[in-house]
Amino acid sequence: MKQVDVAIIGSGPAGLSAALYCANYGLKTLVIERGIVGGKANLAGKVRNYPGFSEISGADLMERLKEQARKAGAEIMQEIVLKINDFGKEKEILTQKENVRAGVVIVAVGSKSKWLNVPGEKKFTNKGVHYCATCDGPVYAGKEVAIIGCDNMALNEALYMEKIAKKVTIICTSNELKGDKPAREFVEAKKIETIFGANVKEFKGGKFLEKIILKLPDEEEKVISANGAFIYAGEEPNTGFVDVKKSAEGQIIVNNKMETSTKGILAAGDCIEKPLNQISTAVGEGAIAAHTALELLQTE
Ligand SMILES: Cc1cc2nc3c(=O)[nH]c(=O)nc-3n(C[C@H](O)[C@H](O)[C@H](O)COP(=O)(O)OP(=O)(O)OC[C@H]3O[C@@H](n4cnc5c(N)ncnc54)[C@H](O)[C@@H]3O)c2cc1C
Repeated sequence: MKQVDVAIIGSGPAGLSAALYCANYGLKTLVIERGIVGGKANLAGKVRNYPGFSEISGADLMERLKEQARKAGAEIMQEIVLKINDFGKEKEILTQKENVRAGVVIVAVGSKSKWLNVPGEKKFTNKGVHYCATCDGPVYAGKEVAIIGCDNMALNEALYMEKIAKKVTIICTSNELKGDKPAREFVEAKKIETIFGANVKEFKGGKFLEKIILKLPDEEEKVISANGAFIYAGEEPNTGFVDVKKSAEGQIIVNNKMETSTKGILAAGDCIEKPLNQISTAVGEGAIAAHTALELLQTE
């Protein structure tokens, strides 16, 4: 069994930032990641709001952070974490293969996309219906696509698709675009149609998606043709396996030192209850969690 000072679950911006700070504090630091190192930020085609970079790809930013954390001495292990056992001063992390013991655990597991839960969504998932244009969008080069949602992430994805698709339509439930000013201005400057006040009623087609039935504010239906639909309906945290106090939506509740309801288990990033899920906020929380980890280990 591996024994470390700090085990960090998740290698997104929050986890890697925590790893960098922990390793720089001289703590034996292990990051446990079930998927691609760098987390969801890898999927961001162009990040335009990370301080210090006017534009950088999410994958490039994460590669730099990964190397920085590794150089500082953090180790990265590929495993799915299934459970954390609390033995007071020591925590045991159960994974599919090798278990780990740590003085402090930092949970930085991020979140996954929410479903709309409308007819046809399940049937056409990966056959027209997707949740990440940066990942699955290239298949729709020269075709008609809809971006369902109008927050920052949705607008950035619309801009990405506008370069390759024949037509991009944004379906926005509210009456105005929700993203920040630069993203809104980029979208408004492009030939992207937006349908406001619309909800998806159903996805339809044969073997693959062909059209989307929308419900408009006046209860009328509108049908748009679409080969691809990319859904941005919010996120739900990957926190099912973590037994600490959470919000009704499953977000981990932390104090301003990133401490959860269990001593020695800290949390950071998109998996905690907070108003803004971004790379910049995640790295800040990761740094604070590392500082708290050091304090806890020094006072034990
Ligand atoms: C398409 C897209 C575009 C975006 N664009 C921007 C942008 O321009 N600017 C910006 O600031 N933000 C952007 N974001 C949001 C940003 O990526 C997230 O806010 C950020 O990645 C959150 O970091 P995190 O470390 O909390 O979580 P994540 O990046 O989600 O990382 C969590 C990691 O934990 C791992 N994990 C989960 N459960 C387990 C487990 N049980 N065992 C082991 N590992 C586990 C996951 O595999 C994942 O790698 C974008 C997101 C997407 C999807």
